[in-house]
Amino acid sequence: MDSTSYTLAEIIKRTRAKELSFTELTDEYLARIDKRNGELHAFLSVDAEGARNAASAADVAFNAEEASPLFGVPVAVKDAILVDGAPCTAGSKMLEHYIAPYDATVMVNLKRVGAFSLGKTNMDEFAMGSSTEHSAFGPTKNPHDPTRVPGGSSGGSAAAVAAGLAPLALGSDTGGSIRQPAAFCGVVGFKPTYGAISRFGLIAMASSLDQIGTFTRTVEDVKLVAPYLFGRDDNDATTQDIPELAELPDPKSITIGILKEGFGEGVHEGMKTNLLSAIAAYEKMGVTIKEISIPHLKYSLPVYYIIMPSEVSSNMTRYDGIRYGLDGPGQQEDNLLGYYLHNRREGIGEEVRRRIMLGTYTLSAGYYDAYYARAQKVRTLIKQDFENAFNEVDIIAAPTTPTPPFKFGEKMDDPLEMYLSDVYTVSANLAGVPAISIPAGTVEEGGMALPVGLQLIGPHKQDYRLLEVASWLERTQGPNPKS
Ligand code: GLN
Repeated sequence: MDSTSYTLAEIIKRTRAKELSFTELTDEYLARIDKRNGELHAFLSVDAEGARNAASAADVAFNAEEASPLFGVPVAVKDAILVDGAPCTAGSKMLEHYIAPYDATVMVNLKRVGAFSLGKTNMDEFAMGSSTEHSAFGPTKNPHDPTRVPGGSSGGSAAAVAAGLAPLALGSDTGGSIRQPAAFCGVVGFKPTYGAISRFGLIAMASSLDQIGTFTRTVEDVKLVAPYLFGRDDNDATTQDIPELAELPDPKSITIGILKEGFGEGVHEGMKTNLLSAIAAYEKMGVTIKEISIPHLKYSLPVYYIIMPSEVSSNMTRYDGIRYGLDGPGQQEDNLLGYYLHNRREGIGEEVRRRIMLGTYTLSAGYYDAYYARAQKVRTLIKQDFENAFNEVDIIAAPTTPTPPFKFGEKMDDPLEMYLSDVYTVSANLAGVPAISIPAGTVEEGGMALPVGLQLIGPHKQDYRLLEVASWLERTQGPNPKS
């Protein structure tokens, strides 16, 4: 077993025991990336030199008593998050040559405690998609079965952690883009409360839904890193403090609500068995289990597909070749509009275009009230449903996805089918509440063992309690091996 099999907690133990140096650790990850990335395409760019320099500086500066859990740790970073001096393409041709001029706040926070970027990971273009098939640079493969998608949009980050190419990865989740790929790749994916982690330096998709979060092999590892990522930021007025736990909860004091709508038709039968046995494990610990309903849940996907494209259409206007983006193609045009159109035509892919058109329509004077304003009202109802549910239970349990990872090409011709992968994840973004996907065994399909994810959703700002409850299940089953 080499170090790329270790969880972050094991890395901490071994580096403190001087059994492993940060240089050795980073070299082993780089060697594994060399070996696997050609096939998996999890990373779009790797900063081997920067990572080696940071690791050797960490070896020199290491002080075991004072070092944070993140000290000397190489991190895979979704290519929508700015890392000073590194490419940041957001999976788009539009930003193919863009070099980030500063660090996102989340990177500032990581670097402050001694972590560093290993490289930038593949994603659907501007984070729009559920499979990485919408990346302008080609898809990422699922390490559990290379004929299947890793999920998306943060598929590169999920695959990197699952395949042992990094111990920790950052992603962003607007409607499920951390939890869904985590479920598909058999790792832990955590989307905190909206505003827990600064969005400054994250390339915006839909600003009222976007949230940065993590991929790790265990929930214990999330608990180690979350306090260093959370916090208010003057550069992001929507950030808020997440209170620490006053005392550790006892299983007997916790009630988990099983989301009734999540266990009906449309959910893969084999997966249901896995999810119910995870719930049974909680019951055995003394947790109270009851059924709960989110009556407006059935509207969450339609509401998401109105609010999200509306915000996308507005956020995407900056890619015109002057403010940001390709400025080559349009130069042959002799008027400004032609210049913009030409740059955008060359730079922006089909799925992003589809959403810009949808959003422009839903925000237009004639249709604003019928679509956008109405969707906002239903969003409030969904939020209220969650508040009501959390008056009765502490945590809600649901599937992360309705199916195991699907095959490449399976949903590319039918956008609505693709959108359905997010049916259980988007509501947490609409309500702004924290949610996590944790591994719940595998189901067999086509002779392959495919990962299943259990989603746990918590009340607003109760991220630490959610992580605590999630970690109980892990203690009964241990982390998944890397694939
Ligand atoms: N898959 C969803 C979408 O296509 C979610 C994307 C995301 O969370 N960034 O919009």
